[in-house]
Amino acid sequence: RTVYVNGSFVPEEAAKVSVFDRGFLFADGVYEVTSVLGGKLIDFAGHAKRLERSLNELDMAAPCTMDELLKIHRELVRLNEVDEGLVYLQVTRGAADRDFVFPEGVAPTLVLFTQSKTLIDSPAAKKGAKIISIEDIRWGRRDIKTVQLLYPSMGKMMAKAAGADDAWLVEDGFVTEGTSNNAYIVKNGRIITRQLSTDILHGITRAAVLRFAREAQMEVEERPFTIEEAMDADEAFTTSASAFVMPVVSVDGAELGDGTPGPVAKRLREIYLDESQKVAV
Ligand code: PLP
Repeated sequence: RTVYVNGSFVPEEAAKVSVFDRGFLFADGVYEVTSVLGGKLIDFAGHAKRLERSLNELDMAAPCTMDELLKIHRELVRLNEVDEGLVYLQVTRGAADRDFVFPEGVAPTLVLFTQSKTLIDSPAAKKGAKIISIEDIRWGRRDIKTVQLLYPSMGKMMAKAAGADDAWLVEDGFVTEGTSNNAYIVKNGRIITRQLSTDILHGITRAAVLRFAREAQMEVEERPFTIEEAMDADEAFTTSASAFVMPVVSVDGAELGDGTPGPVAKRLREIYLDESQKVAV
């Protein structure tokens, strides 16, 4: 595999990042994951915009312009012959002698790599996901896409240990989001998902799916919901750039509907795949 590090496309074995990199030592970095379908990037503009926002919120320098970033993404997809899969991008504050105080004038570290994966015909999406709920103990700025993924990783491990596929995070009695996705329930035809705030990541897939749902005259309500509501919902689903729309078939052991992916989730997955590929770059 060819990866990108600070201006160069190199074989992964030759790629080097300093042990003093603040991403490594302090999780002082942000990232984006963009999906690739038919060799093209899905919603690149949305990811680039969110990256700029994450960098701004952390007072971190942009490693290059967003146009240059698009060129790097495309070149990496071409070099690795990715037809279907993901591009992972990470920007950290850079390498400096270890000190909690941010050093000034350090050049950011930019790393990108690709992963070829079957995304559209995913067996997981056909089966639907089983969800458990766990407490949300993450920090308070979940709207910034930082590389602090320890708790989400632990959450997925807890789900796996419990025989489930993923976890939804609960704070003050309400679901915030999934470990790596936004969470939705459907009740009496209404799609319910938490409103945007610093409590959740502003999903790029979420924005697109809600737009498509409204265009298709589906009812959307942006408000917090509880796990009890989710257990009693007609169906549920999650959205993310890597899994698009993922149907949820059970929550904390309660089967939703007939225990198979619901019609709203299936329809939104189809619309999302159709529409997002039309404008892929
Ligand atoms: N919420 C969290 C915590 C995430 O980590 C992610 C994606 O990684 C999402 C939501 C979904 O965001 P997007 O649709 O931009 O992939």
